[in-house]
Amino acid sequence: MIRILIVEDEKAISDLIRLNLTKAGHQCKCVYDGMTAADILEEENFDLIILDVMLPKLSGFELMEYIRPLKIPVIFLTAKGTLEDRMKGLTSGAEDYMVKPFEIVELLARVNIVLRRYHKMEQKLQFNDIIVDVENQTVTCGGQEAELTPKELELLILLLRNRNITLFREKIYEEIWGTEYSVESRTLDLHIQRLRKKLDLGKSLKTVFKVGYRLEDTNEISV
Ligand code: CA
Repeated sequence: MIRILIVEDEKAISDLIRLNLTKAGHQCKCVYDGMTAADILEEENFDLIILDVMLPKLSGFELMEYIRPLKIPVIFLTAKGTLEDRMKGLTSGAEDYMVKPFEIVELLARVNIVLRRYHKMEQKLQFNDIIVDVENQTVTCGGQEAELTPKELELLILLLRNRNITLFREKIYEEIWGTEYSVESRTLDLHIQRLRKKLDLGKSLKTVFKVGYRLEDTNEISV
């Protein structure tokens, strides 16, 4: 499981990020000041750090001094959106930079991009009783091996890695088929229908009318 450290002193923002990253299947730990973050980084390992700039005790920029030798990718979060701060964030070694207020969907997308860049994508994905072994390209559903075509499998992995996020038809199409989406094409819809049928995803794999598709976790997650 991907482990993410969230360093953000505004509890509401921290909770929102944690809730969404947990829903996306990641394991999160939240700390609320720079010193605690430095302490925890000496003891625990993380795959990614979401780091606020303005923090009590030790600022995000100062904390970068501790993080850089650990080679853990960082996404900066900050209310300060000036070019100067953005430059400072990126030159200090951060992978990305988000200005508050931000859309949580955008943060999730950037988290995925950074994890992929660092080859930290999960190789075993689970959704209810569906287990996908990405490396060996196998899928089981309720313990039984499911027969998926290569494109169906790619589509399933894309949906699993973006669970609870609405994926635009165009984006899915380009990602899986590598060509530009055409409105007349029924290919994507057909593949979705087959996935629903083969893996009993009728309830979880939602159609977002005229927009795209979303794989929805219906299990409640406590925060
Ligand atoms: Ca702050």
